Amino acid sequence: MQDWLEHYRGSMMGTIQSPLAMLERGEGCHVWDTDGNRYLDFLGGIAVNSLGYAHPAQVEAVSAQIGKLAHVSNYFATPPQVELAERLQRITGAGAAGRVLFGNSGAEAAEAAFKLARLNSVDGRSRILTLKSSFHGRTMGALSLTGQPALQAGFEPLVPGVEHIDSTIDALEEAIGPDVAALMVEPIRGEAGVLELPAGYLERARELTSKFGALLILDEIQTGIGRTGKWFAFQHFGIQPDAITLAKGIAGGVPIGALVTFGAASELFQPGGHGSTFGGNPLATAAGNAVLREIEDSGLIENAARRGQQLKSFIESLRHPQITEVRGRGLLIGIGLAEPRAKELSAAALSHGLIINAAKDQSIRLAPPLILGDAELEEFEELFPKALGELA
Ligand SMILES: *Cc1c(COP(=O)(O)O)cnc(C)c1O
Repeated sequence: MQDWLEHYRGSMMGTIQSPLAMLERGEGCHVWDTDGNRYLDFLGGIAVNSLGYAHPAQVEAVSAQIGKLAHVSNYFATPPQVELAERLQRITGAGAAGRVLFGNSGAEAAEAAFKLARLNSVDGRSRILTLKSSFHGRTMGALSLTGQPALQAGFEPLVPGVEHIDSTIDALEEAIGPDVAALMVEPIRGEAGVLELPAGYLERARELTSKFGALLILDEIQTGIGRTGKWFAFQHFGIQPDAITLAKGIAGGVPIGALVTFGAASELFQPGGHGSTFGGNPLATAAGNAVLREIEDSGLIENAARRGQQLKSFIESLRHPQITEVRGRGLLIGIGLAEPRAKELSAAALSHGLIINAAKDQSIRLAPPLILGDAELEEFEELFPKALGELA
């Protein structure tokens, strides 16, 4: 066994079977391991590293902020925090009627959304609907929202009140009623292998939740922040949700999460209703401001849309017998395989210096940094077919 792996296994909790490499540094869309091997990263820390690695805008903002104020308690406000909240109001379209609640991770944003749903539980309205195969995080509340029995096994009893329904319009019409407090869905289920919803699903979900007084909560933790070629995936569908959860891409790797509410849902939390020591601290929010500013100034959302199309067309053009489908939007792409060989394919890619992700046994996920350019695309077009070639 390699030395680093031995140290890892001897000290880290055994929740990850075997890390793929020991990474030391990164630049742009590339990372290097401690042996000096270079990899083209088409996973981007799972849709986290919006600006890739060591982007000057992010490095400068974080360095400057840590030299001023890294943290204060929630008894005080800070300029970067309010600036980021106002920026999120603007880019989500929530505007002045919207509100932002900061946390430190996706799971915490899901927990806040869960509490928001409970606050909408008046007059016996208590059911919370989420989808089968969904992923909302690993803390107990978020895990209870997650529709994956394999992840829940061993951690029962779960938090009560959540029902996981099929991701069809029929199943939604059947399940929803005046006793539903909230429907929470991912516009694209990333962890499930980049699964899109049926056409018309979100529009119908908006109609039905409005009709019955249920909140429509969208988990945009993976699909948000420019990833799909719009700031947020819901913006492809011409609807406005009651709340969205965010995390991953906001601060490009500095831990942060957020719940953003729209309209009347902004009135549900009252003073004392929630809190987080680190949530919204000046360091994380300064990083968030720098990342979002750079995405806007450098046209990275348009880049994600355009590069995503190029990438999809390229993968389809390979007409490889193992590839049955290319899914997703922008730079969140799923590749469906004919056989359960995603792990084998991602291992082959890694050996050629390309990081791709086996999200499920038959699904490869790509979520490269939004800064992806011509050179990185060309490198992918050279490396990915080599990896595919090893699947006899
Ligand atoms: C990653 C993810 C989460 C959980 O985020 P953490 O920061 O890992 O807690 C929740 N929902 C979705 C859709 C995600 O992709």
